[in-house]
Amino acid sequence: MSHISSNQVFVWIERYAAHIAEQKDYLTRLDSAIGDADHGANMHRGLQAVLAKKAELQNNDIGVILKGVAMTLISKVGGASGALYGTFFLQASTVAQSKTQLSASEFGSLLEKGLAGIVLRGKAAIGDKTMVDALQPAIKAYKHSVESGETLENALSNAVSAAEQGLKSTVPLVARKGRASYLGERSAGHPDPGAASTLLLFRSAAEALV
Ligand code: ADP
Ligand code: MG
Repeated sequence: MSHISSNQVFVWIERYAAHIAEQKDYLTRLDSAIGDADHGANMHRGLQAVLAKKAELQNNDIGVILKGVAMTLISKVGGASGALYGTFFLQASTVAQSKTQLSASEFGSLLEKGLAGIVLRGKAAIGDKTMVDALQPAIKAYKHSVESGETLENALSNAVSAAEQGLKSTVPLVARKGRASYLGERSAGHPDPGAASTLLLFRSAAEALV
């Protein structure tokens, strides 16, 4: 059974920063349709601030790395996504306290704790057209794969596919949470920006954690 090391966790975040940098304009375009056109810029600012702390964060246990990511996102990202992704990483860090490696199953618990933090804070359910529409099915697919004895690589790849489906599922939805909900029916017909950045989080995991 393969394990996830603290170095791999940092590489996960580095890959995420790279994907966000590359897709910044796309994310902002999605947010310009149903929000205030800042999601790409918000996420990019936060993750660049995380990269700037590389020397301080890198050679630590997984709990310290994830907590550092959380605190940086919370302080540097204005907007709902900073608080929500910050909460995700902060809650996730509590599962990894003092750990320098995680089993595939422990990583699933970490993701679930992060999701629970987002739901507690943002009160969104599936179908509300938020990042939860990508996050929840991705974590479910990951956990199901690990529990059925699939490899970490397959579990992460199944999570990416579920996040892709989740992102697609947001297109026809009317937003019930966040800024997009102010548009009412006019929010339908567009993908949710936060679900799109969540898909990138899982793509990064699939690249870095195997
Ligand atoms: P803001 O909406 O403050 O401008 P961003 O544009 O950075 O912040 O992020 C918008 C994204 O945040 C949305 O696309 C959605 O996925 C997510 N979001 C907003 N409110 C919530 C919520 N209550 N629960 C979960 N996700 C939310
Ligand atoms: Mg916005």
